[in-house]
Amino acid sequence: MKLNAVESCLVPQQQTHLVHLALAGYPREVCGVVFSHDIIVQYRNISPDPEHNYDAEIDMGDNDIKAIWHSHPNGPNTPSDTDLQFIEHCERHGMHFRHIIVTLKGVFEYEAERDATSSAA
Ligand SMILES: [Zn+2]
Repeated sequence: MKLNAVESCLVPQQQTHLVHLALAGYPREVCGVVFSHDIIVQYRNISPDPEHNYDAEIDMGDNDIKAIWHSHPNGPNTPSDTDLQFIEHCERHGMHFRHIIVTLKGVFEYEAERDATSSAA
């Protein structure tokens, strides 16, 4: 899987909103979804280790999901190994949405490159 850094689908005000949510949740990771029409929803982080990870009861089959976002309160602005595994999982199951990492400095957005070999199954 090839992951590309892409320009954010969110307008600057929404990016700032996500940074504020990350700040409010510090030092825990916060997470949520961007639905179509750029509606941002925060989900409760139910990970047993919320300072280093996130988990949420998101209906991943929802066709309205445009992006999944979560914070890295202490950076980095790149996906962790766990994040990459999650993105691979999504792609393998045909869930092609963007993945947004929010740090206290800004919003960083990634999109897996669609390719014929990995989109089967
Ligand atoms: Zn992460």
